[in-house]
Amino acid sequence: MGKTITIRPLCCGYMRVSESVPFGNDVSLKNSAHQILARDANRVVLPVYAFLIEHPQGRFLIDAGFPREMSPKGEYDSKAVSALLPKHLAQLYRPWVPRGMAVIEQLEALGLKPSDLDCVILTHFDPDHIGGLKSLKGAKRIIVAEDEYFWTCRTVYRARQPKHFYDGVPMEHYWFKGSDVGPNRWAYDVLGDGTIVLVNVPGHTDGMVSVLVTNGELLEHKHRFALLTSDAAFTPRNWREKITPGLGFDPKLQRRGLDWIAEQEKRQGCIAVLTSHDPDMKSEVITIDLA
Ligand SMILES: [Zn+2]
Repeated sequence: MGKTITIRPLCCGYMRVSESVPFGNDVSLKNSAHQILARDANRVVLPVYAFLIEHPQGRFLIDAGFPREMSPKGEYDSKAVSALLPKHLAQLYRPWVPRGMAVIEQLEALGLKPSDLDCVILTHFDPDHIGGLKSLKGAKRIIVAEDEYFWTCRTVYRARQPKHFYDGVPMEHYWFKGSDVGPNRWAYDVLGDGTIVLVNVPGHTDGMVSVLVTNGELLEHKHRFALLTSDAAFTPRNWREKITPGLGFDPKLQRRGLDWIAEQEKRQGCIAVLTSHDPDMKSEVITIDLA
């Protein structure tokens, strides 16, 4: 590995969700009901991305997508989905994972085993982000924010985040520290050099992070970075048109998150802002030269 960082988007399947999941513009009972009951005509197909970051200091995987078990033949399989998700989530997501697209299969295609991953970073505990976690057994580290883990005790998350996807998986919890970045200025610098910074962007969940990947340069005119928003935004439309996703717990915080993302996109040195569910995203590898 040279003195560059690469970010490889990995499309790990799809979900057919109510339009109000990405563009509900409020978190309400009406939206929640629509998300579960919507007919196909009122649903949109969204991709589910994980990201592989190759860094001179190691390989980092951001999120794990849905697992193969949810879609044994590579198609939507309501029985297989219902075996892994409670009824309301099975209806909310209607997910499938085409053959070869589960995260572990994509790593294998790149010649990688879980033990080649230095760190798996979980942005939050929703099933479309951690469903494939158990297939990554053998990764050197798996990390999640203490705030994300702690707040799984809230009723809303118990309904959203089935425990069996992470139960029994050894995981390190980290604490956010005061930071110059992020809507509430809390972040965790994974390597201590500013090149991979997990920025707390609450609103979708309490402890969710967006991932800032930078060249580590502090001088503004030399600073280069890419931002992986996770579900602070589902697509660029969220921050460009100021529409909050309808899946979350606090629309005010979601709005602050979108404002922060919009600011980042305008900053000098911004190479890309990538979400986890953008149907128009090109799966191109992004390269950042280190300072
Ligand atoms: Zn998601």
